[in-house]
Amino acid sequence: MNHKNFKNIDKVTYGRGSFSQLAATVEPIRAENKNYFVYIVDNYFKGKTLSNNLQNKSEDLVYFIDVDPNEPTTEQIDSLRDEILSKKGLPSGVIGIGGGSIMDIAKALSLMLTNEGSSTLYQGLNLIKKPGVYHLGVPTISGTGAEVSMTAVLTGPEKKLGLKCDWTVFNQVILDPELIASVPTDWWFYTGMDTYIHCIESHNGIRNNAFSLAYGDKALDLCRDVYLNENSGQNSANDDKLMVASLMGGLSLTYSEVGVCHALSYGLSKILGTRHCYANCIIFQHLEDVYKEGVDEFKQMIRKHKIELPQNLHKEWSDDTITKMANVSYNLPFMWNHAFGDNYKEIATIDYIKDLFRRL
Ligand code: NAD
Ligand code: ZN
Repeated sequence: MNHKNFKNIDKVTYGRGSFSQLAATVEPIRAENKNYFVYIVDNYFKGKTLSNNLQNKSEDLVYFIDVDPNEPTTEQIDSLRDEILSKKGLPSGVIGIGGGSIMDIAKALSLMLTNEGSSTLYQGLNLIKKPGVYHLGVPTISGTGAEVSMTAVLTGPEKKLGLKCDWTVFNQVILDPELIASVPTDWWFYTGMDTYIHCIESHNGIRNNAFSLAYGDKALDLCRDVYLNENSGQNSANDDKLMVASLMGGLSLTYSEVGVCHALSYGLSKILGTRHCYANCIIFQHLEDVYKEGVDEFKQMIRKHKIELPQNLHKEWSDDTITKMANVSYNLPFMWNHAFGDNYKEIATIDYIKDLFRRL
């Protein structure tokens, strides 16, 4: 058995108002390279209070990036990297402020600033050749665990796959629950459910262990407070909890593995462009036979927050589309192995996976 050996975030600041410490936190790093920072900020914040409080200096480059409707692409990272290097040379660091999409852009950009060629060359595990520049993440929507993970997921012409290595992990994360207050209720639900599903999948499979279970159990307790228990809903006490749940759910899956829902979700996102967290919700509701208790509880949360998920999507899909999605999912053997054990190949056949897509 090969035991996982992962790098964690170097430093984490947590607490209401902690975003105000951003400039002081990065000041010592400013001496590196060409003495300026690149800010990658979710376009949602353009013109909002946060954009006036970036604490940037005049030499810094600030990019507001629209993450809707497409998830980050290899092409986007490559052209951003080329533009930044030709404008000002190698920055001291990259600061990402936004959701999972912005976290991934900041992580990928940090690596691609020092690694030559297209990011498509580095989609996969440990393909990156040199450490990137310093990178700091400030999540503004919670659930994906992208703030803690060792991957920067990019959609390329060939595949949707992360730049995955120790150097991908943030040097610093600032967790300020005040920043997630403005998330619209539907996204609050879908993205938070990504954490819930990470934990259910991490727990229900052969790779779970006391370490992944400890993080996952705590994250599930926090999710139940946020989405199910008496004081559930979007409020400041729950925002405090959701931010921590997201990080712990990410650590749970890192030390275990995700499963059937995520394998299908990758197929749906790659072929039809459905957003990760939304795709997970669309799929998870139909996995009662795999994750009985988790799906029952998920449905209670759906009812409680009056979330409407689309049904009968498969009626619009040709067999060709379903086959393409199934092929993407099939090629994630770690997930199927974790979910179904060592004889997973007998269970998770292409036909079985196509049938799962026909449930949606
Ligand atoms: P997102 O970054 O895609 O943002 C979702 C929406 O919320 C956008 O419209 C955004 O503008 C808006 N938003 C963000 N913060 C807001 C705020 N405070 N107030 C109002 N609106 C706000 O959301 P996400 O679900 O966090 O990220 C999804 C992405 O994360 C996908 O691209 C997926 O591939 C990636 N992902 C990465 C990992 C990883 O480990 N690297 C894991 C899971 C998912
Ligand atoms: Zn996920």
